[in-house]
Order: sequence, then C-alpha cells, then structure tokens
Amino acid sequence: MPARYLVAVVGRRDYGCASELVCEVPDDFRPHPGQFVHVACGGDGRILRRPFSVFDRGEGTASILVREAGEGSSWLKRRGPGDRLDILGPLGRGFDLCAEGGRLLVAGGAGIAPLRFLAKRLLEEGETCLVAWGMGEAAEYGVLPDVLKKEADVRLACLDGSGGHAGSAVDLAMQLDRESAGQVYACGPREMLLSLAARMEEVDREGLARLQVSVEERMACGVGVCRGCAVPVAEPPGAYRAACSDGPVFRGDELDWMRMAALT
Ligand SMILES: Cc1cc2nc3c(=O)[nH]c(=O)nc-3n(C[C@H](O)[C@H](O)[C@H](O)COP(=O)(O)OP(=O)(O)OC[C@H]3O[C@@H](n4cnc5c(N)ncnc54)[C@H](O)[C@@H]3O)c2cc1C
Repeated sequence: MPARYLVAVVGRRDYGCASELVCEVPDDFRPHPGQFVHVACGGDGRILRRPFSVFDRGEGTASILVREAGEGSSWLKRRGPGDRLDILGPLGRGFDLCAEGGRLLVAGGAGIAPLRFLAKRLLEEGETCLVAWGMGEAAEYGVLPDVLKKEADVRLACLDGSGGHAGSAVDLAMQLDRESAGQVYACGPREMLLSLAARMEEVDREGLARLQVSVEERMACGVGVCRGCAVPVAEPPGAYRAACSDGPVFRGDELDWMRMAALT
C-alpha cells in the first residue's frame, strides 16, 4: 500500500500560469527526484486523484508546482495556507542519478517540476548540470526562471522569441548536448519527448540509451493496478508498462517510440 498523508499547505508562491504549493511533510516522506504524489482534488465528482511531481523537498516541507490544465488542477492551484491536501506518495520510479559524463536537463512547460528537484539533488551531491527549459513566452512562468537561474545554469527557449533561445527546448537541447554529450533527462508534453527521442537517435547509436524521460501520461489509480496509463515498451515486442508504477521515468531505449507516437 502506498503511504497516504493529510498534509497542511503552509505556503504558496504564484509564478504566472503556475503556483507552487508548499506543504508540511513528516520526516518519513522521502521522495527521489522524478517521483510524484497523487493528489485528491476536491471532490465535486472528481473521483480520480491527479499526479504532480515533487518540485522541492526542504526542512520539514515538500512542494509541488501546479499548472492549470483542467478542473482538478484549477481547484488545486487555488489552495493556500490553512488548506489540507490528501496525497499518496511518493510514487513511481524516479530518475537514475548514477550516470557518467555531463548532465543536460530538458523541460517543456510544467515539466520543469521534476527536473528542478533533480537539479537541486545533483548540485547537493557536487555534480553540475545544465537545464534547457522551453515555454511559449518568457513571461509565462513569472519570476520562476529568475529564481531557478540562481540555483542552476538554466537556459530558456521561448517559441515566440521573447527570451533566451528563439525556438523549442529540443532545438536548444541539441545545441547544448554537443557540449555535454552525457546523460539527458527530460520531462514535458509527449510531442516534445517524441521529438527529443528522434533527435537523440540521430546523434549517435547510443543516443536513446543516454536519455531518461518522465512521461506525462494520463493516469487513474497511480499504483499500477488499473493499467490506464500503459505505455509501449521496446522489449518484449508489443508489451506495455504502467507509467505510474514502472515509470514515470523510462530510459529512452526502453520505450517503443513508434507506438508512443500512435497513442492518442
Ligand atoms: C507523473 C506525472 C507528473 C506530473 N507532474 C505535474 C507537475 O508537476 N505540474 C503540473 O502542472 N502538471 C503535472 N502533471 C500533469 C497533471 O497531472 C495534469 O495536468 C492534471 O492531472 C490535469 O488534471 P485536471 O483535472 O486539471 O484536467 P482534466 O483534463 O480535467 O483531467 C481529466 C483527467 O485526465 C487526467 N489528465 C489530464 N491531463 C493529464 C496529463 N497531462 N497528465 C496526466 N494526467 C492527465 C487527470 O488525472 C484526470 O483524471 C503530471 C502528470 C504526470 C503523469
């Protein structure tokens, strides 16, 4: 059984389209970067919990970054001090930190959440990393890019050219990968991951083996029982794995990208 907590929201920071909710958590809440919490989003017919990556873990607190996408996240984004959240977690398989060579983190939109926690952990362990964060326009996440730039080497990619690299996070990442050529960690919309995987495969035969992706699939139970979040894997041919419990992090060469592209 996954651990269930009723946690108090003790802080909230608004960053443009997203809000960070800081919650008081007990000592035994020990997430690994890339793991997520499954959050009950306020009833009103919303029976299914919603998955949110751990964004930070501090002294007695942990936080999530919530971008409004529909009813559940809209309800959650409006929580603040005085509210309590019903969470399951930490859930899933996180990123493998024990990689050799440079580390490039590639985020699309709210996909920055697990990668920020990963970057913090890597820096705490004395490792360096480079973060490529893509978004529509530079103002989308308010001051969050400036906050994160104080922690790590964060480069922005804005589709409308309003800041950083003019273009996609994947284009920027492929430029930066020439410098680091090590492990590439990514989280973002499926289209972004598909494009990144295709470009990594072009770079060299080991490209996909150097890639770790956190997939943002729609999920229901969050614990591998309902199989609603199944993603196609390369081995054995035709097989699927549950994104919530076998993932959400997979190595690039574990997934069957042709069949990933066909998922609706
Ligand atoms: C492992 C994981 C980590 C995530 N981490 C974050 C995060 O840190 N910050 C953030 O803003 N968002 C994150 N998401 C996406 C977030 O879970 C969805 O935006 C949210 O569930 C949408 O719910 P809703 O009720 O607002 O939208 P609705 O569209 O009304 O949701 C309807 C149903 O679809 C599911 N759903 C809809 N969109 C998604 C999606 N993109 N991914 C998964 N399920 C979805 C919901 O769980 C719900 O069951 C993550 C998703 C996954 C799988």
